[in-house]
Amino acid sequence: MVRRVTKEDSGTFLKFLGTAGARFVMIKQLRASGGIWISCAGTNVLIDPGPGSIVRCNASRPKLDPSQLDAIVLTHRHLDHCGDINVMIEAMTEGGFRKRGAVFCPQDALGDDPVILRYVRTFPEKIELLRPEQTYEAGNFIFRTSPLHMHNVETYGLKFRLGNQTVGLLSDTRYFKGLEAFYKTDVLIIGVVFFKPRPEIDHLSLDDAKGLISALKPQKAILSHFGMSMLSARPSVLAQQLSRELRAEVVCAYDGMMLTF
Ligand SMILES: [Zn+2]
Ligand SMILES: [Zn+2]
Repeated sequence: MVRRVTKEDSGTFLKFLGTAGARFVMIKQLRASGGIWISCAGTNVLIDPGPGSIVRCNASRPKLDPSQLDAIVLTHRHLDHCGDINVMIEAMTEGGFRKRGAVFCPQDALGDDPVILRYVRTFPEKIELLRPEQTYEAGNFIFRTSPLHMHNVETYGLKFRLGNQTVGLLSDTRYFKGLEAFYKTDVLIIGVVFFKPRPEIDHLSLDDAKGLISALKPQKAILSHFGMSMLSARPSVLAQQLSRELRAEVVCAYDGMMLTF
């Protein structure tokens, strides 16, 4: 029998259910796009359940059981982040028959052309709107939102504590001064979509990541959310180069990668 992650597993970990960034890597599923699962002292949280999140949960070993989720957090409404959010709300609430859990999302996930369907909104115990630089709580998982990112929809990054380390999740944005002030953390996960800068599009490039890592000096920097140009340039090689250049620990995330705290 496949072991499932349940409430009784009080370990604290973060698992990448996908490392795809932006449209084409997601569409072609060159990397999975299931988001990030966090277990924080018995509280289970799923961040950005993109397309295939339900599949990645079930394919995980040990299996990640979505009916054990306590919260789902959406950083923004783009499909590579929210494609499976309705499925995951249903799964968290056992098809809507068991009212439980919380959903945290920006307001535009619910507005005109909503990505969270109206009929699932009554399933969780609450839906809480994200605002800039606020603190939110779901069981043992406490997180803080970043200042509003510069992306073409309402977008926030997150900062939280796992074990005795602080973790930053730098979601989609173009670079702006102000990122450094928020993302000073022990472990920093950076969404690096582009290999070369493309200033006309609101995403970070490898150069932006390099600047952020040298300014912030996290104990561990993790590159993830790769676009096509990053994948072609072999992110694991790029991470090794950055480690040497910056004399810092820079790693490249892969689907299924797990960090324990
Ligand atoms: Zn994205
Ligand atoms: Zn986006």
